[in-house]
Amino acid sequence: MSNLSSDRVVVIGTGMAAWGATQRLQAEGISPKLFDKNEFLGGHTASFAREGFIFDDGPHISFTEIEKMKNVLADAVDQEFEVLNARVDNWYKGTWVKHPAIAYLHSLPSDLVVKILSEFIEVSQQPMPETKTFANYHEWLLAAYGPTFANNFPARYGKKYHTCEAKDMNVDWLGPRLYRPDLEEVLLGAIAPPQHEAHYIDKFRYPKAHGFEGYLRKFFDSVEPNLGHRAVRIDAAARTVTFENGHVEPYDHLVSSAPLAEVIKMIPEAPADVVEAAGKLSCSQTVIVNVGVARQDLSPAHWRYIYDEDMRSVRLSFPHMFSPTTVPPGHGAVQVEVYYSDKYKPLNHKPEDDIQPVIDELTVMGVLKENEEIVFSEARFVEYANVIFDLDSGPCAAKVQDYLTSIGISYCGRYGDWAYIWTDQSYLSGERAAQKLLDGITSA
Ligand SMILES: Cc1cc2nc3c(=O)[nH]c(=O)nc-3n(C[C@H](O)[C@H](O)[C@H](O)COP(=O)(O)OP(=O)(O)OC[C@H]3O[C@@H](n4cnc5c(N)ncnc54)[C@H](O)[C@@H]3O)c2cc1C
Repeated sequence: MSNLSSDRVVVIGTGMAAWGATQRLQAEGISPKLFDKNEFLGGHTASFAREGFIFDDGPHISFTEIEKMKNVLADAVDQEFEVLNARVDNWYKGTWVKHPAIAYLHSLPSDLVVKILSEFIEVSQQPMPETKTFANYHEWLLAAYGPTFANNFPARYGKKYHTCEAKDMNVDWLGPRLYRPDLEEVLLGAIAPPQHEAHYIDKFRYPKAHGFEGYLRKFFDSVEPNLGHRAVRIDAAARTVTFENGHVEPYDHLVSSAPLAEVIKMIPEAPADVVEAAGKLSCSQTVIVNVGVARQDLSPAHWRYIYDEDMRSVRLSFPHMFSPTTVPPGHGAVQVEVYYSDKYKPLNHKPEDDIQPVIDELTVMGVLKENEEIVFSEARFVEYANVIFDLDSGPCAAKVQDYLTSIGISYCGRYGDWAYIWTDQSYLSGERAAQKLLDGITSA
């Protein structure tokens, strides 16, 4: 047990990673001081109440397989969560195809199916090399599926979602994300709809109340956070953090869930090679278009991927299908993500300019009716969405992380670990950062 509860521990952020870190520290009798640049708590796991609707910061569901995290989240809402069987599909050139399309080819045009099948049969004759041996994501896709499926589906969607070409991305982030069925499953799915779900997420959980943020409400109650505090300067020698509003906070230990490149900007004495590495780290941004209407039969699927390049919508999700408490009675909602990035696809217009084109696309796809009355709409800009795993991102992130460690700053979370991690892993990352700090403390 630590005897250092008087040490000043500062945590930057109030999202999942900050929750994991705080919980671990509180268990040792240490009360960290939390700071967030936002005026609200929760980072990406915040939910926003809007005229009777509740919208998350992009669709958030829990599909964790980690037993401990299932329990942490279930306890956080006193077991009051929905359990849903995921239904997912894809919009491809005027047709809805169940997801993952490789296992449901029967609904595609037959000439395309024949081409995909003949190539898939060919690649299936070769053993799939280990993921890490591929030079880039596109090469992996070609080896896994053959060119026609690879280029028409995952590479096409990937460009919309990650904003860069598959050939410009590494394979470090892949994990179980892309489903590669065996030949028999592909052939069966080309003849008739399979009887089972083949998506890597089959069941998911969602709080019954308050949107995804419902999971964090007890955590919020356990801390006295300092909101509206954007950290702008870290003096690692003097052990102080300075905020944009002029407040200076001394610390003995600092845990940051802020994006790596942002942290480096706070340290003017960071060496040039670290600054250069940090400058190469890029993240996508998203404009989230939220739309509310006075009916619920908007979609059979909980979320839908949009492949067509002439549509700006990338993914649709339907909050009222996660929990009915996210909408006024009898209403439905759709949340649409449109992706940008400073490096590959800069946002050159106001976020609001995405609203009407997205509504038009929803109408073309049959989600909205022609001239349907929209009872609520808004666009929100999310500055950090997904880490872009372009080719030099791994070594650059490692260089920055090593430097932060060398000056005694613990990093954690999606933008500290610089990883494609979900809420459960972000919480555990925060916990690990706190544990390292405790190990340092107890061994000092
Ligand atoms: C569109 C989208 C959909 C997603 N869907 C899912 C999903 O369905 N399921 C799932 O499990 N995960 C999902 N995720 C991933 C999930 O959101 C993250 O893994 C997790 O929320 C990250 O938590 P974090 O604490 O690491 O980061 P964040 O939530 O970003 O927290 C970082 C905090 O640091 C604060 N901060 C940053 N800079 C400063 C500064 N200079 N000064 C002070 N404060 C600062 C931020 O305001 C923020 O509160 C999704 C992510 C996105 C973008």
